[in-house]
Amino acid sequence: MDRRIQGIPASPGIVVGYVHLLRWEVPDVRHRIIPDECVKDELEKLQAAIARAKERLHHLRTRVEATAGAEEAAIFDVQLSILDDRELQRGVEDLIRQNLGAEKAFDLVMLEWRTRFARHAAPMLRERVGDLTDVHIRVLSLLLGLPDHDPVDLPPGANAILVTHDLTPSLTVQLDRKSIVAIATDAGTRTAHVAILARSLGLPAVVGLRTATAELKGGERVVLDGSTGMLAINPTDEEIERYHERQREEETAEAALADLAALEAITLDGVRVTLRANVDIPEEAEAAARSGAEGVGLMRTEFLVVGRANMPDEDEQYRAYRRVVEAFAGMPVVIRTFDIGGDKLPVGGFPTEPNPFLGWRAIRMCLDQPEMFKVQLRALLRAAVHGDLRIMLPLIITLDEVLAARKLLEEAAVELKERGVEYRADVPLGVMIETPAAAVASDTLTRDVDFFSIGTNDLVQYTLAVDRGAANLAPRFTPLHPAVLRLIKRTVEVAELGDIEVAVCGEMASQPLMAFALLGLGVRQMSVAPRSVPLVKRIVRSVTAAHAKLAASAALRALTAEQARHELARRLADVIGDAPYLYDGLPGDG
Ligand code: PEP
Ligand code: MG
Repeated sequence: MDRRIQGIPASPGIVVGYVHLLRWEVPDVRHRIIPDECVKDELEKLQAAIARAKERLHHLRTRVEATAGAEEAAIFDVQLSILDDRELQRGVEDLIRQNLGAEKAFDLVMLEWRTRFARHAAPMLRERVGDLTDVHIRVLSLLLGLPDHDPVDLPPGANAILVTHDLTPSLTVQLDRKSIVAIATDAGTRTAHVAILARSLGLPAVVGLRTATAELKGGERVVLDGSTGMLAINPTDEEIERYHERQREEETAEAALADLAALEAITLDGVRVTLRANVDIPEEAEAAARSGAEGVGLMRTEFLVVGRANMPDEDEQYRAYRRVVEAFAGMPVVIRTFDIGGDKLPVGGFPTEPNPFLGWRAIRMCLDQPEMFKVQLRALLRAAVHGDLRIMLPLIITLDEVLAARKLLEEAAVELKERGVEYRADVPLGVMIETPAAAVASDTLTRDVDFFSIGTNDLVQYTLAVDRGAANLAPRFTPLHPAVLRLIKRTVEVAELGDIEVAVCGEMASQPLMAFALLGLGVRQMSVAPRSVPLVKRIVRSVTAAHAKLAASAALRALTAEQARHELARRLADVIGDAPYLYDGLPGDG
């Protein structure tokens, strides 16, 4: 083997494949002056590159239309129309006639167009900057003879491991699953949405590799171990066999845990814990229902939207929510309204912000676009007829947002009534506690909401001011920090006093040691990735709530996250032995 690169485990599974390096960025272009006699050739070169780019876009359009439908494929029409734009072409041709090389001429005109569009007063035109950038990259790559880095177009069966600097959830959902078998990124962490999504899609992934794109050229054979976060470059046949062995061991361990699915999540001293599943895409619902989860604690509806150019209409949303509700036949299904923004964006239509996680995200975006929000609310009220659906609002910081959302919910119900459509009016409305504001002031919310769900991914990010997706900060993303533990404790106490239910649905609940801490802090409902349900159940069934409470008290007294971890690990090891998975979960699990 040449070498290994260690990253952060993001989605389990061991895959042997070939590196497909994705550098979807505008290449550097040298200034090149051409003599008069070359102008004609350069003009032809430009036309040939444009024609080739159009051919590729038509091809992509056909592929995406077949796999994702006509609406998705429409993205490519915009790019095709840019390539057909006469004004743009004339601009480039004029510069070539002034003796500039075709690639530099094209580069300069595209830069000017992108700047002009980005500053345009009309949002419709600002939205086109992403398409212009794609066209810029595509044509320049052709003019410069660079390798084809197309992110969505690979031959089926290529067994490609996509290696890239960073990946957005919108690109992740578009990946062609017939050819891409795993993802590896320089950036990202376990709680980045690309990692969460990879787990939901069942795509093995390693993130936070930092130097992978710099160290790889493309085409190398690699083993990606999504469970330990390792990328082995040019492995020998014996090494590959060892990985297969590990793969078999993992499968056996999981099969043993699966036997727990039918058992109750109850501690040795008889405290009952409700374990639910996080569902990110509706197709996951049936498998999640088989995991032993007692309902859905968080459905992330924004994954219906990311990677698409259009919002799903009411009927499409209704079908998606109904599918999840019916898969869980009568069990509670908590569906969160769109948490669009941050790192989860549809294609086009949304402004780029200097601080997206502090920006126009989630409930803020929904309340500012009531017509769009009400489409979702109507779909939810209709789906609620089919089971125990509950609605949850993300990123709440103040009661005003809850009241405004409730008003829109009432309007949505009136609209359905006027249309004569069947719906349920008395749907419980809960909120995510995922900002320090919501946790500290949780007492201001209890009167007007039906339940809390603590989103530790964002709560940790906003409390500690540590970007949840930044690989270089991953060691500083410490859910056991005293501030986080105190905020969780406070929220649980406030919920108890206010007599409303409280759950934890962030990744923290998936990790055995932290699940033990949460139990000790009084949490009696947790929602975790379906794959983690049996593991957390095992922890719950192996300890007493009394012991967990003592451990949590010690953790709360600790001065640092590391000390808290030590206190908890020591006490958990007392009852459950010293299994390595106790400390971080099944590797890559989450
Ligand atoms: C969270 O923030 O903990 C959460 C569950 O929501 P998301 O990860 O989708 O932001
Ligand atoms: Mg969140």
